[in-house]
Amino acid sequence: MSKLRNKVAIITGANSGIGLATAKLYLKEGAKVVLSGRRQEALDEVAKDLTGDFITVLADVAKPEDNVRLINEATNHFGKIDILFLNAGIAPPTPTNEITESHYDEVFNTNVKGPILAVKAALPHINDGGTILFTSSIVNQKAFDGFGVYSATKGALSAFARVLGSEVKSRKIRVNTIAPGPIETPIYGKMGLPQDVLDSIGEDFAAQVPLGRFGASEEIAATALFLVSDDASYINGVEIEVDGGLSQL
Ligand code: NAP
Repeated sequence: MSKLRNKVAIITGANSGIGLATAKLYLKEGAKVVLSGRRQEALDEVAKDLTGDFITVLADVAKPEDNVRLINEATNHFGKIDILFLNAGIAPPTPTNEITESHYDEVFNTNVKGPILAVKAALPHINDGGTILFTSSIVNQKAFDGFGVYSATKGALSAFARVLGSEVKSRKIRVNTIAPGPIETPIYGKMGLPQDVLDSIGEDFAAQVPLGRFGASEEIAATALFLVSDDASYINGVEIEVDGGLSQL
Protein backbone atom coordinates (compact mmCIF):
# COMPACT_ATOMS: atom_id res chain seq x y z
CA MET A 1 0.00 0.00 0.00
CA SER A 2 2.96 2.35 0.37
CA LYS A 3 5.82 1.23 -1.82
CA LEU A 4 5.96 4.72 -3.34
CA ARG A 5 4.88 6.86 -0.39
CA ASN A 6 5.49 10.57 -1.19
CA LYS A 7 7.46 9.77 -4.33
CA VAL A 8 6.75 12.13 -7.23
CA ALA A 9 6.14 10.30 -10.51
CA ILE A 10 5.61 11.67 -14.00
CA ILE A 11 3.95 9.32 -16.50
CA THR A 12 3.53 10.14 -20.19
CA GLY A 13 0.69 8.56 -22.13
CA ALA A 14 -1.17 8.27 -18.83
CA ASN A 15 -4.73 8.65 -20.09
CA SER A 16 -4.88 5.18 -21.63
CA GLY A 17 -3.69 1.59 -21.53
CA ILE A 18 -0.39 0.85 -19.79
CA GLY A 19 0.18 4.44 -18.64
CA LEU A 20 -3.25 4.72 -17.02
CA ALA A 21 -2.98 1.34 -15.28
CA THR A 22 0.43 2.37 -13.95
CA ALA A 23 -0.84 5.76 -12.77
CA LYS A 24 -3.62 4.03 -10.82
CA LEU A 25 -1.16 1.61 -9.22
CA TYR A 26 1.37 4.31 -8.34
CA LEU A 27 -1.40 6.37 -6.70
CA LYS A 28 -2.53 3.31 -4.76
CA GLU A 29 1.04 2.90 -3.56
CA GLY A 30 1.17 6.45 -2.21
CA ALA A 31 2.91 8.31 -5.04
CA LYS A 32 2.14 11.85 -6.14
CA VAL A 33 1.47 11.44 -9.83
CA VAL A 34 1.63 13.73 -12.84
CA LEU A 35 -0.49 12.19 -15.58
CA SER A 36 0.38 13.55 -18.98
CA GLY A 37 -1.44 13.13 -22.28
CA ARG A 38 -2.08 14.96 -25.52
CA ARG A 39 -5.90 15.20 -25.25
CA GLN A 40 -7.42 17.34 -22.51
CA GLU A 41 -10.80 15.60 -22.70
CA ALA A 42 -9.17 12.20 -22.18
CA LEU A 43 -7.22 13.51 -19.18
CA ASP A 44 -10.39 15.06 -17.72
CA GLU A 45 -12.26 11.80 -18.21
CA VAL A 46 -9.71 9.61 -16.43
CA ALA A 47 -9.24 12.18 -13.67
CA LYS A 48 -12.89 11.68 -12.66
CA ASP A 49 -12.15 8.10 -11.54
CA LEU A 50 -8.81 8.65 -9.81
CA THR A 51 -8.19 9.19 -6.15
CA GLY A 52 -5.00 10.40 -4.53
CA ASP A 53 -2.57 13.25 -5.02
CA PHE A 54 -2.31 13.87 -8.75
CA ILE A 55 -2.39 16.51 -11.46
CA THR A 56 -2.89 16.19 -15.20
CA VAL A 57 -0.74 18.06 -17.71
CA LEU A 58 -1.63 18.43 -21.37
CA ALA A 59 1.53 17.82 -23.40
CA ASP A 60 2.15 16.47 -26.88
CA VAL A 61 5.43 14.62 -26.46
CA ALA A 62 6.22 15.09 -30.16
CA LYS A 63 6.56 18.83 -29.49
CA PRO A 64 9.84 19.85 -27.83
CA GLU A 65 8.29 22.81 -26.00
CA ASP A 66 5.57 20.60 -24.50
CA ASN A 67 8.17 18.33 -22.91
CA VAL A 68 9.79 21.32 -21.22
CA ARG A 69 6.42 22.63 -20.05
CA LEU A 70 5.44 19.20 -18.70
CA ILE A 71 8.53 19.06 -16.52
CA ASN A 72 8.09 22.69 -15.43
CA GLU A 73 4.45 22.19 -14.46
CA ALA A 74 5.29 18.98 -12.61
CA THR A 75 8.12 20.53 -10.62
CA ASN A 76 6.22 23.75 -9.95
CA HIS A 77 3.45 21.68 -8.39
CA PHE A 78 5.29 18.84 -6.66
CA GLY A 79 8.95 19.96 -6.48
CA LYS A 80 11.63 17.41 -7.29
CA ILE A 81 10.96 14.29 -9.37
CA ASP A 82 11.62 10.74 -8.15
CA ILE A 83 10.20 8.68 -11.02
CA LEU A 84 10.02 9.50 -14.70
CA PHE A 85 8.09 6.96 -16.79
CA LEU A 86 8.44 7.65 -20.53
CA ASN A 87 5.61 5.52 -21.81
CA ALA A 88 3.69 7.47 -24.49
CA GLY A 89 3.94 5.91 -27.90
CA ILE A 90 2.20 5.17 -31.17
CA ALA A 91 2.44 2.10 -33.40
CA PRO A 92 0.93 2.84 -36.81
CA PRO A 93 1.88 0.00 -39.17
CA THR A 94 3.33 0.71 -42.59
CA PRO A 95 4.95 -1.84 -44.90
CA THR A 96 8.40 -0.68 -45.95
CA ASN A 97 7.37 0.11 -49.53
CA GLU A 98 4.69 2.49 -48.22
CA ILE A 99 6.77 4.41 -45.69
CA THR A 100 6.56 8.18 -46.14
CA GLU A 101 8.64 10.91 -44.60
CA SER A 102 5.67 12.17 -42.62
CA HIS A 103 5.01 8.67 -41.23
CA TYR A 104 8.66 8.40 -40.23
CA ASP A 105 8.63 11.85 -38.61
CA GLU A 106 5.41 11.23 -36.71
CA VAL A 107 6.54 7.92 -35.22
CA PHE A 108 10.10 9.01 -34.46
CA ASN A 109 9.03 12.38 -33.01
CA THR A 110 6.57 10.67 -30.68
CA ASN A 111 8.48 7.54 -29.70
CA VAL A 112 12.07 8.80 -29.69
CA LYS A 113 12.47 12.57 -29.81
CA GLY A 114 9.78 13.13 -27.18
CA PRO A 115 11.19 10.85 -24.49
CA ILE A 116 14.75 12.04 -25.11
CA LEU A 117 13.80 15.71 -24.77
CA ALA A 118 11.66 14.98 -21.71
CA VAL A 119 14.63 13.28 -20.05
CA LYS A 120 16.86 16.23 -20.88
CA ALA A 121 14.37 18.66 -19.34
CA ALA A 122 13.81 16.46 -16.29
CA LEU A 123 17.36 15.49 -15.37
CA PRO A 124 18.17 18.62 -13.33
CA HIS A 125 14.99 18.03 -11.32
CA ILE A 126 15.31 14.30 -10.66
CA ASN A 127 16.45 13.44 -7.16
CA ASP A 128 19.71 11.54 -6.85
CA GLY A 129 18.68 7.93 -6.33
CA GLY A 130 15.61 8.47 -8.50
CA THR A 131 14.59 6.26 -11.38
CA ILE A 132 13.78 6.55 -15.07
CA LEU A 133 11.71 3.94 -16.87
CA PHE A 134 11.01 3.54 -20.59
CA THR A 135 8.38 1.54 -22.44
CA SER A 136 10.04 -0.15 -25.37
CA SER A 137 8.72 -3.34 -26.97
CA ILE A 138 9.62 -6.91 -27.83
CA VAL A 139 9.89 -5.70 -31.42
CA ASN A 140 13.53 -5.38 -30.31
CA GLN A 141 13.71 -9.18 -30.18
CA LYS A 142 11.30 -10.29 -32.87
CA ALA A 143 10.24 -9.14 -36.35
CA PHE A 144 6.63 -8.16 -36.99
CA ASP A 145 6.01 -7.40 -40.66
CA GLY A 146 4.74 -3.89 -41.32
CA PHE A 147 6.19 -2.44 -38.13
CA GLY A 148 9.64 -1.46 -39.42
CA VAL A 149 9.55 2.21 -38.44
CA TYR A 150 7.92 1.47 -35.09
CA SER A 151 10.53 -1.21 -34.40
CA ALA A 152 13.30 1.23 -35.33
CA THR A 153 11.95 3.73 -32.81
CA LYS A 154 11.89 1.20 -30.00
CA GLY A 155 15.40 0.04 -30.87
CA ALA A 156 16.55 3.66 -30.72
CA LEU A 157 14.83 4.18 -27.39
CA SER A 158 16.49 1.13 -25.87
CA ALA A 159 19.90 2.27 -27.13
CA PHE A 160 19.31 5.71 -25.63
CA ALA A 161 18.29 4.17 -22.31
CA ARG A 162 21.55 2.22 -22.16
CA VAL A 163 23.69 5.33 -22.60
CA LEU A 164 21.53 7.38 -20.26
CA GLY A 165 21.91 4.76 -17.55
CA SER A 166 25.66 5.07 -17.81
CA GLU A 167 25.59 8.88 -17.83
CA VAL A 168 23.55 9.15 -14.63
CA LYS A 169 25.24 6.41 -12.64
CA SER A 170 27.19 8.91 -10.52
CA ARG A 171 23.83 10.20 -9.26
CA LYS A 172 22.61 6.66 -8.47
CA ILE A 173 19.66 7.14 -10.80
CA ARG A 174 18.47 3.73 -12.02
CA VAL A 175 17.40 3.51 -15.68
CA ASN A 176 15.40 0.49 -16.82
CA THR A 177 13.15 -0.47 -19.71
CA ILE A 178 10.04 -2.60 -20.04
CA ALA A 179 9.52 -4.46 -23.31
CA PRO A 180 5.86 -5.50 -23.46
CA GLY A 181 4.57 -8.19 -25.75
CA PRO A 182 1.01 -7.93 -27.07
CA ILE A 183 -1.00 -6.14 -24.40
CA GLU A 184 -4.71 -5.51 -24.70
CA THR A 185 -4.89 -1.70 -24.86
CA PRO A 186 -6.57 0.91 -27.08
CA ILE A 187 -3.36 1.20 -29.16
CA TYR A 188 -4.62 -1.42 -31.62
CA GLY A 189 -7.78 0.57 -32.33
CA LYS A 190 -5.62 3.61 -33.17
CA MET A 191 -3.68 1.84 -35.94
CA GLY A 192 -6.12 2.82 -38.67
CA LEU A 193 -6.86 -0.81 -39.58
CA PRO A 194 -10.29 -2.30 -40.35
CA GLN A 195 -11.81 -4.36 -37.52
CA ASP A 196 -11.51 -7.69 -39.36
CA VAL A 197 -7.78 -7.12 -39.92
CA LEU A 198 -7.36 -6.14 -36.26
CA ASP A 199 -9.22 -9.28 -35.17
CA SER A 200 -6.99 -11.46 -37.30
CA ILE A 201 -3.80 -9.74 -36.02
CA GLY A 202 -5.10 -10.24 -32.48
CA GLU A 203 -5.75 -13.94 -32.99
CA ASP A 204 -2.37 -14.38 -34.64
CA PHE A 205 -0.50 -12.62 -31.79
CA ALA A 206 -2.36 -14.57 -29.10
CA ALA A 207 -1.61 -17.86 -30.85
CA GLN A 208 2.11 -17.04 -30.97
CA VAL A 209 2.35 -16.25 -27.24
CA PRO A 210 3.40 -19.31 -25.22
CA LEU A 211 0.83 -18.35 -22.55
CA GLY A 212 -1.78 -18.22 -25.34
CA ARG A 213 -3.23 -14.80 -24.66
CA PHE A 214 -2.71 -11.05 -24.73
CA GLY A 215 -1.36 -9.47 -21.57
CA ALA A 216 -3.29 -6.92 -19.52
CA SER A 217 -2.17 -3.34 -18.84
CA GLU A 218 -2.18 -4.19 -15.15
CA GLU A 219 0.50 -6.84 -15.77
CA ILE A 220 2.79 -4.19 -17.23
CA ALA A 221 1.87 -1.77 -14.44
CA ALA A 222 2.92 -4.37 -11.85
CA THR A 223 6.34 -4.53 -13.52
CA ALA A 224 6.48 -0.74 -13.76
CA LEU A 225 5.85 -0.57 -10.00
CA PHE A 226 8.47 -3.20 -9.21
CA LEU A 227 11.16 -1.52 -11.31
CA VAL A 228 10.75 1.94 -9.75
CA SER A 229 10.32 0.68 -6.19
CA ASP A 230 12.97 -0.26 -3.64
CA ASP A 231 12.17 -3.91 -4.40
CA ALA A 232 14.29 -3.38 -7.52
CA SER A 233 17.00 -1.33 -5.77
CA TYR A 234 19.79 -3.38 -7.39
CA ILE A 235 18.21 -3.60 -10.86
CA ASN A 236 19.75 -1.09 -13.20
CA GLY A 237 20.27 -0.89 -16.97
CA VAL A 238 18.01 -3.82 -17.85
CA GLU A 239 15.25 -4.34 -20.38
CA ILE A 240 12.61 -6.72 -19.07
CA GLU A 241 10.34 -8.54 -21.50
CA VAL A 242 6.80 -8.87 -20.17
CA ASP A 243 5.36 -10.90 -22.99
CA GLY A 244 4.11 -14.29 -21.87
CA GLY A 245 7.32 -15.79 -23.25
CA LEU A 246 6.78 -14.61 -26.84
CA SER A 247 10.30 -13.28 -27.37
CA GLN A 248 12.14 -16.19 -25.74
CA LEU A 249 10.24 -19.47 -26.09
P1 NAP B 1 -2.41 3.38 -25.63
O1 NAP B 1 -3.49 2.87 -24.77
O2 NAP B 1 -2.73 3.93 -26.97
O3 NAP B 1 -1.56 4.43 -24.80
C1 NAP B 1 -0.59 5.23 -25.42
C2 NAP B 1 -0.61 6.57 -24.75
O4 NAP B 1 0.39 7.42 -25.37
C3 NAP B 1 -1.95 7.26 -24.91
O5 NAP B 1 -2.24 7.97 -23.75
C4 NAP B 1 -1.69 8.18 -26.08
O6 NAP B 1 -2.55 9.28 -26.16
C5 NAP B 1 -0.28 8.63 -25.71
N1 NAP B 1 0.35 9.34 -26.79
C6 NAP B 1 0.51 8.96 -28.08
N2 NAP B 1 1.11 9.94 -28.77
C7 NAP B 1 1.32 10.96 -27.91
C8 NAP B 1 1.87 12.24 -28.03
N3 NAP B 1 2.34 12.71 -29.19
N4 NAP B 1 1.92 13.03 -26.93
C9 NAP B 1 1.45 12.58 -25.75
N5 NAP B 1 0.89 11.39 -25.57
C10 NAP B 1 0.84 10.58 -26.65
O7 NAP B 1 -1.33 2.22 -25.88
P2 NAP B 1 -0.44 1.34 -24.88
O8 NAP B 1 -0.45 -0.02 -25.44
O9 NAP B 1 -0.80 1.57 -23.47
O10 NAP B 1 0.99 1.98 -25.19
C11 NAP B 1 1.89 2.44 -24.19
C12 NAP B 1 3.30 2.14 -24.64
O11 NAP B 1 3.46 0.71 -24.71
C13 NAP B 1 3.66 2.67 -26.02
O12 NAP B 1 4.95 3.24 -25.99
C14 NAP B 1 3.65 1.43 -26.90
O13 NAP B 1 4.52 1.56 -28.00
C15 NAP B 1 4.13 0.40 -25.91
N6 NAP B 1 3.82 -0.99 -26.26
C16 NAP B 1 2.52 -1.44 -26.33
C17 NAP B 1 2.26 -2.75 -26.67
C18 NAP B 1 0.86 -3.29 -26.76
O14 NAP B 1 0.69 -4.41 -27.28
N7 NAP B 1 -0.14 -2.58 -26.30
C19 NAP B 1 3.32 -3.62 -26.94
C20 NAP B 1 4.61 -3.15 -26.86
C21 NAP B 1 4.86 -1.83 -26.51
P3 NAP B 1 -3.95 9.14 -27.00
O15 NAP B 1 -4.90 8.41 -26.09
O16 NAP B 1 -4.31 10.54 -27.25
O17 NAP B 1 -3.64 8.36 -28.24
